[in-house]
Amino acid sequence: MAKDTDVQRRLAISRVAINKQDPHVRKTNWDEVFLGFDLEAAQTEAMRCIQCPTAPCQQACPVGNDIPGAFHLLEIGDINGAANKFRETSNLPELCGRLCPQERLCEGECVVAFAIRPDMHQEPPVTIGKLEAFVTDYQRKHFGVPLPVLPAPTGFKVAVVGAGPAGLAVAEELAKQGHACTMYDAWPEPGGVLLYGIPNFKLSKEVLQDKLTYMDKLGVGFVGNTWIGKDVTIDDLFAQGFHAVFVGTGAGLGGQLALPGEEYRGIFAATEFLVRGNLRPEQLPEHMREPLEPGKNVVVIGGGDTSMDCVRTAVRLGAEHVTCVYRRTETEMLGRQEERQHARDEGVDFEFLTIPLRFIGDAEGKVTGVECQRMALGEPDESGRRRPIPVPHSEFVIDADTVAVAIGYNADPIIKDAAPGVETNRWNLVEVNKETFMTTRAGVFAGGDNVNGADLVVTALADGRRAASAIHDYLESLTPLHLR
Ligand code: SF4
Repeated sequence: MAKDTDVQRRLAISRVAINKQDPHVRKTNWDEVFLGFDLEAAQTEAMRCIQCPTAPCQQACPVGNDIPGAFHLLEIGDINGAANKFRETSNLPELCGRLCPQERLCEGECVVAFAIRPDMHQEPPVTIGKLEAFVTDYQRKHFGVPLPVLPAPTGFKVAVVGAGPAGLAVAEELAKQGHACTMYDAWPEPGGVLLYGIPNFKLSKEVLQDKLTYMDKLGVGFVGNTWIGKDVTIDDLFAQGFHAVFVGTGAGLGGQLALPGEEYRGIFAATEFLVRGNLRPEQLPEHMREPLEPGKNVVVIGGGDTSMDCVRTAVRLGAEHVTCVYRRTETEMLGRQEERQHARDEGVDFEFLTIPLRFIGDAEGKVTGVECQRMALGEPDESGRRRPIPVPHSEFVIDADTVAVAIGYNADPIIKDAAPGVETNRWNLVEVNKETFMTTRAGVFAGGDNVNGADLVVTALADGRRAASAIHDYLESLTPLHLR
């Protein structure tokens, strides 16, 4: 840790504000909301880190980033070194810096936020995530991400099923060990949730594209439009000569409401709404290529970050009135406060303590409204949050020509058919040995959301890194190919 006087000097620095696009401007474009730091501002913000030796921020980071180490390098002007420090422990630092809920991870533990200053005022934590994004973006743009020196090929081949955060981490880490990796995905392009779930205004597609180009340079192959379980099975992959398979298919199956009228045109699962609103037609499967009809009145059902992505996508598609319907109060919402504030700033309305009862449609089968009911909060349920209870005779209708349903994600049950011998539980989550990441079938590994349930990009990434290490050990344990 820095000396006492140095700590006081650092604590006296106020948090550096980060510029954002004005809400009235950003509503009309798809660019990222945050404009980011410039170098001088980033170095000043990094100086707020007091370099505490216990680094609770690092302990709270799922991939264990050496945050004080990186910020020291940034402070002394070694931006490349700072970026590489993040890359030692993370495959996607530009993305995690933008997407992690830092307030409940690294920044939630930053001691700077708990320090009492001589004038008794408090400052927020160091802006860790956006500094991580800054240094790694800076390196990408000014120097390029350094390519590792690859060892001689081992001759082992690994199929990575699912090209999202976990799969990308597995493929990168194994490629660096000399193993030949091929990623498979049901979507036409790699990236999983990073491409098909997260809108451009939170993560510029250019950042992901640079990562995919880097993966290409590492020699990682990609096969798109391939649904494991429908187009190819795990047995097929072994028959094709793969020595191990990693299943990282995530949890992308949107929850359904099962309400009357859900078949009306204009009602979408959140994923379909987001991909058709955010991506070019050629990046989508053929059945999703028709452009979305721009809705005038859009209702989004659900209160997580995906709902905020949907409401803000609707705003940018030109909707006049966008409403988020959520059955509890804002206090119980699981998503980020920052995202809700962005949505509010962009003109989104919230109907809290409200549930949908049925959808209303016209004679042509198009949705025209959502009949809702008011709720009150009762006793806490199994999640610890107070249970919503219907208020009698409180029904009302919200006009809607477009509805997006964003009530959570589940793992796809297809994995049972795709992988005989791989056991799943009643939520269709794959059973793995937590040490070896191996499933109940030898040579088949799994990690990320299809093991843990829907979670964060950074937790899937952390799982992928650990699984890659376990797969490498497994391959090492096999008879060397040249001795067969
Ligand atoms: Fe914080 Fe996420 Fe970066 Fe870790 S990966 S330092 S939790 S923003």
